[in-house]
Amino acid sequence: MTANTGKFLRINLSNGETATESVDEQVAIDFIGGRGYGIRYLYKELTPNTDPLGEHNKLILLNGPLAGTSALAVSRWMAITRSPLTGAFARSVGGADFGAWLKFAGYEFIIIEGKAEKPVYIHITRDSCRIHDASELWGKDTRETQKRLSQLYGKSTRTACIGPAGERLVKYTGIFSDRRSAGRCGTGAVMGSKNLKAIVINAQHNIQLFNPQAYNQLVKEQINLVTGNKGFQNHKEWGTTSTQDFTNEIGIYPVRNYRYGRLDGREKIIGDEYRKLRTGDIGCYSCPARCGKVHTVTYGLYNGAHSEGPEYETIWAFTGPIESTSIEATIAADQLCDDLGMDTISTGNTIGFAYELYENGILTKKDTDGLELTYGNHEAMIALIKKIAAREGIGNILAEGTKRAAGIIGKGAEAYAIQIKGLELPAYEPRGAKSMGYNYATAAIGASHCYGYAAQDIWGAMEPRPTDRFAEAENADVVIYNQDETAWKETGIICGFAGGWGWVADLFGKMLSAARGIDQYTDNSHLWRVGERITNLERMFNVREGFNRQDDTLPQRIRTEPLITRGAPGEGQIVRNQDEFLDRYYELRGWSKEGVPSPQKLAELGIGDI
Ligand code: SF4
Repeated sequence: MTANTGKFLRINLSNGETATESVDEQVAIDFIGGRGYGIRYLYKELTPNTDPLGEHNKLILLNGPLAGTSALAVSRWMAITRSPLTGAFARSVGGADFGAWLKFAGYEFIIIEGKAEKPVYIHITRDSCRIHDASELWGKDTRETQKRLSQLYGKSTRTACIGPAGERLVKYTGIFSDRRSAGRCGTGAVMGSKNLKAIVINAQHNIQLFNPQAYNQLVKEQINLVTGNKGFQNHKEWGTTSTQDFTNEIGIYPVRNYRYGRLDGREKIIGDEYRKLRTGDIGCYSCPARCGKVHTVTYGLYNGAHSEGPEYETIWAFTGPIESTSIEATIAADQLCDDLGMDTISTGNTIGFAYELYENGILTKKDTDGLELTYGNHEAMIALIKKIAAREGIGNILAEGTKRAAGIIGKGAEAYAIQIKGLELPAYEPRGAKSMGYNYATAAIGASHCYGYAAQDIWGAMEPRPTDRFAEAENADVVIYNQDETAWKETGIICGFAGGWGWVADLFGKMLSAARGIDQYTDNSHLWRVGERITNLERMFNVREGFNRQDDTLPQRIRTEPLITRGAPGEGQIVRNQDEFLDRYYELRGWSKEGVPSPQKLAELGIGDI
């Protein structure tokens, strides 16, 4: 029996051609699937210096080898492309059912090439792939778009789409399915640049596994391990709606554009307060955690606001940056971003940047069309979100992200742009969790907590070893461990939360092997090698685009201004010696002083020819 390496669909929007192709077995051994397939195909197929919003960029949407099966938390999907926000490699992970549906249709990924002349959507079934006119959908929000396609094709459809902000090429827009998104790095703008509004899939459950009996037995073991795990039970209860209780406690909740590590009035936004507004929960395919907590406002200024969230990053994005304690405004802002198709992290961070420019007189009421960007003013925040999505007035500049916006505004605005490689920082203060900060600095996609989450610094995780969260170069090995581990888990595509539920080390490789029929996966060292291969190839993608050591830099504020924690631990912390960290990190990685993987390292990883 031959290995089950997966098929993929290539769709060219310029000429309307589609083709089904198979993955070579050696590629399946070396890259497994998911993020591995994504970087392997993007690196091979994209010409250097391709305009991210031009016809020649490619957008790859992938599931993993286990997607659509009854295993828990392995049916997420991922968008991979060259980012219009950063110019670097982009990967962003989404949830809900789209990954499973892509698998039911018979595919592990789709490569979307070219650019349609006018707005289109793609309809995929198990037997066909057709490109249709989308003029009727263009301009609709993500909710209306999915509803309309479901009316057209029936309830057994799942859709991934962009909102109006993606159509207008706002640089930090995502691709949405249900209310979950591959939100970061501007993947939505890439789809918008191709005049592609949506991909809708009609399919029934249909999975082919190499050894179904062995696989089903392993899934039973996984379910037993996961459902008995305390971390799983806590996540099922709260999702991430109480993470802010802890990050405020330890002084790493970024406030006023990363000046403070704790929010004044934080008791108003704790998990118990969100609990009072909870009206349901939602989840991803075959995951009983259902960690998306639904909230509805039934009073006051934001009466009627309803969001399938916010989760921790969004709770932060619409409170910390502008120092607001309004849960209701946060729910309204989350709903708006989901409808318009925007990444909440970059949106909140960019708005916080604008508020600080206003405080310093770099932006005035004249520039903001009369909006008063004063701390606590959440109504102005809501108005700014709409302006950004519409590219109206100041919104047109802020739609470019903090790095480009600072360049346009000038007058020293660069000092207030809290970004790395152009991607805005998320909700963990780097001076109070330095392994996380250095993960941001060295991540191929820019400042992402998901690229190598430093659970050691934040939650006291013991693997591979405990860390001192204020240490720097001493933790370079842990930063590498987190990044490589995330990379091999995302071949899965295992949900970032599920990695800590006590099953992965024992079972993941065996499940992959039963699904694919490739024995190498059962060797743990093979998985780690694949993870390292992926992070190195992603690095090479960036090197080819001209990125180097200078781009692995934490924002000026983080390196020069001591953190103020308002009574939490970590007062006065600053990043002391970035150079020492980078020297150590590059040395351990086998990279040059400039951060370029050595020929020996690439050969050792079997990607020297690439
Ligand atoms: S833990 Fe939450 S995000 Fe992860 S797969 Fe389950 S429902 Fe989806």
